[in-house]
Amino acid sequence: MEAYQQILVAVDFNSSIATVIQRAQFIAGFGAAKLSLVHVVEPAPVDFLDQTMLVNMNLDEVLLKTARQQMQTLAEKYGVDSADCYIEVGSVKAEIFKQIESLAADLLVVGSHGRHGFALLLGSTANAVLHGASCDVLAVRVND
Ligand code: AMP
Repeated sequence: MEAYQQILVAVDFNSSIATVIQRAQFIAGFGAAKLSLVHVVEPAPVDFLDQTMLVNMNLDEVLLKTARQQMQTLAEKYGVDSADCYIEVGSVKAEIFKQIESLAADLLVVGSHGRHGFALLLGSTANAVLHGASCDVLAVRVND
């Protein structure tokens, strides 16, 4: 059996993402896999934009700029080359799947919050990507 070659970690910027990245780095170390990070910025809903005072400000640009800064902080903290960090805009699930294809990733790593009750009904990124990903998926249990 071959070790993973290209690991893709889907990152949000919650503090719990540390556990997810560290677990991915641990696995990458077994076979010297390349490790990449992806964060997806979901465009601001138009309804929300209508109600804000941000008349001349493009909210998506603000979200993107913030995401770039947060990604840079993560990359520096975990020693990931900035060339291996991706910020995409769109639906989280669809963009993660595109990135898997683009990198030919063989393992996707996401956090899983272990929600229950009503929160579970709303769904989670881990649930969304588990079915349909073209590679193995590791859901790392994180504390809420
Ligand atoms: P959640 O959907 O809040 O349960 O998030 C669970 C996991 O999905 C996180 O730990 C990340 O691995 C991933 N994730 C959530 N939001 C994003 C996002 N916007 N971009 C990339 N990955 C994400």
